[in-house]
Amino acid sequence: MTRIIEADPTVWNNFHIHTYRCRHAEGDIADYVKKAAELGMNKIGFSEHAFIAGMENPLCMPEEDIPGYVEACRAADGEQGVSVLCGMECDYDPSDESFFREFYLGKFGMDYLVGSVHVLKGRHDTMNVFANSHFGVKELRIYTDLYVRMIESRLFTFCAHPDLFGRPIEVGEGSNGWDENAEAAAKEILDAAEENNTVLEINTSGIWKTRERGHKTIIYPRWQFWEMASDRNIRVIANTDSHSVERLDSGIDYGMELIRRYNLQRVELEKDQARD
Ligand SMILES: [Zn+2]
Ligand SMILES: [Zn+2]
Repeated sequence: MTRIIEADPTVWNNFHIHTYRCRHAEGDIADYVKKAAELGMNKIGFSEHAFIAGMENPLCMPEEDIPGYVEACRAADGEQGVSVLCGMECDYDPSDESFFREFYLGKFGMDYLVGSVHVLKGRHDTMNVFANSHFGVKELRIYTDLYVRMIESRLFTFCAHPDLFGRPIEVGEGSNGWDENAEAAAKEILDAAEENNTVLEINTSGIWKTRERGHKTIIYPRWQFWEMASDRNIRVIANTDSHSVERLDSGIDYGMELIRRYNLQRVELEKDQARD
């Protein structure tokens, strides 16, 4: 299992990384370890997109690749002075909680789970948060409820990109994307995180996407969200959500700047040796 510890201010480590196994990222574990050592990191964590029993999803690592993924993480652990943690990024739905716990933490003995809301089940059956066209106030309501419930499950070592909702609103309504609805959603998520002592992720993948897709304002992380976290007792972790070795530290300077600017408590993960 994994412990959450105060981050060493002189080192940044990344705990949100994807490999070729999810079919929409590049690079393998050994490649990332090499790059991490070059960047002066001493730990990295893989969080491949989690397969869910009975659900076809071409963006997730297929079930048959799971044993090889765990083996490759374990084999790379300690190479070039880099400790390697093995995790999964789970698309949250309350009905899948026991599957995530029993399958990934239980059967495969993974180190940690990351909780994400990429997909909304509800009014539009399933709708991807990244698909901007139908994302409005009603969808924001569904997103917020799901995100809060994910926090309350206490299943996840950290909850990813809580401020992802800022982006669809931006595109859908043509404003700068931060209105009273966004603020209310942020407050609910931050309240839940504070109450449940949940680590929230500053995910800088949005910096790369902003550049790549020519958006005018940063789609995420949203500084407005993190400003609201500044006077609260909330721990944060800063990751890049790498989908290629080149993106291992992409945008992280901005994430660290937000942490400094809003005086946030930065944590990182560590293997709990006693329980290995
Ligand atoms: Zn991905
Ligand atoms: Zn991810």
